[in-house]
Order: sequence, then structure tokens, then C-alpha cells
Amino acid sequence: MSYNLEEALVRREAILKGHFELASGKHSSIYFQLARLLSYPEEANSAGNAIAELFRSENVESVIGPAIGGIVLSFVVAQALNLPSYFAEHRGKNFILRRGFKFHKGERVLVVEDVLTTGGSAMDVVELVKKNDAVPVGIGALVNRGNFHSDQIVSHALFEITAPMYEPGRCPLCLDKKPLEKPGSSPRKKK
Ligand SMILES: [Zn+2]
Repeated sequence: MSYNLEEALVRREAILKGHFELASGKHSSIYFQLARLLSYPEEANSAGNAIAELFRSENVESVIGPAIGGIVLSFVVAQALNLPSYFAEHRGKNFILRRGFKFHKGERVLVVEDVLTTGGSAMDVVELVKKNDAVPVGIGALVNRGNFHSDQIVSHALFEITAPMYEPGRCPLCLDKKPLEKPGSSPRKKK
């Protein structure tokens, strides 16, 4: 039986409805708080297995995700594939490898991310992998909420939803004076 992430998100209250400011600065009526899902080991393992299955034939050699949201996810996907798990950390606007993490030349690396919106963080990690002479083989995500797609790399998400997003100045929820929440999980800012 395949894992139904949408049901799990509802079950673990990881999909929130209201008025939110996203990491990009845009506003939306939907927010994914994946830490709530991943805090349950059986959910994290099930989701990790499901992502691992999507890339099992890709001869992946290691898995990496952007900290903080990608740390647990990388671990459970790597566990399912019996591979090492790494995470990338922010230094200023860039991601770097720390803690002695390194790839061998040509290592086939799967990049994972909890939520793809613009895909900015995931693509930054893809670039980090390339910069370290390794080969990014794909992006595996729990949720794709922004129709993320790249011509450079294959990506799969367990749950795809076109969640409305608004520029702050043109947000109907702001016009309705709904209180704005900033659940935030990332220090990353576009501007
Ligand atoms: Zn708004």
C-alpha cells in the first residue's frame, strides 16, 4: 500500500489554513509545517521510503537536504536506501558543506527538500553538489506547492498542490484584515 502524504498531513496537522507570510515574502492561505509530520518517526520513515522508491533505480550514492527542514528528511530517505545522509548549511546567502561532509568525485547525490515553493533552496543545494564535483541526480520533495519544475534536473514530490500565493501589496487576505502569521522555518530571504 502506498503512502498517502495528503492524508498524513491532515492527520498530523501539518497543513495549516489561514494567512501566512512565506519564506519568499509572499502571502498565502496555506502553509505546510512539515516538522509536525516529521516529528513522528513512523510518518517520517513512511515518507522517506516513498521518496526513496522514486529514485531507487538511479544508483544514488548519498542523500543531502538543506538544513534545517531537510535534515530529518535526508536521513530517512538515506536510511531507506542504506546510504549516507548529509545536510547543507547556510553561510550568508549560500549553502555550504560543514562537519567534514564531502562527496567523492562524480558521486551521485539525491537532493531532498520538505516543501518546494520556488525551489530556491533545493536548487542552491543542487549547485552546491555540482560545485563539489558530484552529480545531482534529482530532487525528491514531500510537497510541491508552487508548480516547481526545472529543466536542469528531474524532481518528484509526494504531494502536489497549487497553493495560492500573493504579493503582499495585492493580497486579498490583507485586504480582509486577516491577521498575518509568519510560521517561518528558514532564515532565507529573497530581498
Ligand atoms: Zn496578505
